[in-house]
Amino acid sequence: MSRILLVEDETAIADTVAYALRAEGHEARHCLDGRTALAAVADETFDLAILDVGLPDVSGFALCAELRRRAPLPVIFLTAQAAEAERVLGFELGAEDYVAKPFSLRELLARVRVALRRPPPTSGGGIAAAGGFEHDRAGLRIRYRGQPLELTRYEYGLLAALLARPGAVLSRAQLMDRVWEDAPDSGDRTVDTHVKTLRAKLRAVAPDADPLRTHRGLGYSLDVD
Ligand code: CA
Repeated sequence: MSRILLVEDETAIADTVAYALRAEGHEARHCLDGRTALAAVADETFDLAILDVGLPDVSGFALCAELRRRAPLPVIFLTAQAAEAERVLGFELGAEDYVAKPFSLRELLARVRVALRRPPPTSGGGIAAAGGFEHDRAGLRIRYRGQPLELTRYEYGLLAALLARPGAVLSRAQLMDRVWEDAPDSGDRTVDTHVKTLRAKLRAVAPDADPLRTHRGLGYSLDVD
């Protein structure tokens, strides 16, 4: 038996899912929004969270980050649009899954079984180190070659997104979506501008190394070899 946190503001969907989870022998706690979900995790521990992406007070993605700050937790997102599903694929460490609405209960339950078998993600806290970078995810700080980087919020988001997928090329659109979620009006040049200032800060630490790579017409990646 597992304890599952279900955060979904559509009660019809939530009732069906909670019923199916209980029928499988799990304990399901249903919350209607992010605020109550955070209160729930304060007094209970869960083995898995099922999060609707479109919640009334906060996005399911932001809620996931908050939950993970407290404890490692596998997450299944319920997505309503293709764009949301795409974002799950670009998410931190691959300890997430999603089902697209409308979904079949059978499909969701299959994903739940898989998620519960997976070892819990370590992204809830701790330090991830690679290529001279040490990312303190809980403290939202990144050190490079032992030196703490003084980053703006968006520079931090940018570097964290690239660090999460070492060597992978992330397009401007992916980075915009990931880092500038709350500023959808930002222009095309936004990513480039922040890459430039971020690169300058990395060069100030290590002038010879150039880990932040530009892929013309494609996007950016971070070398951590
Ligand atoms: Ca919703």
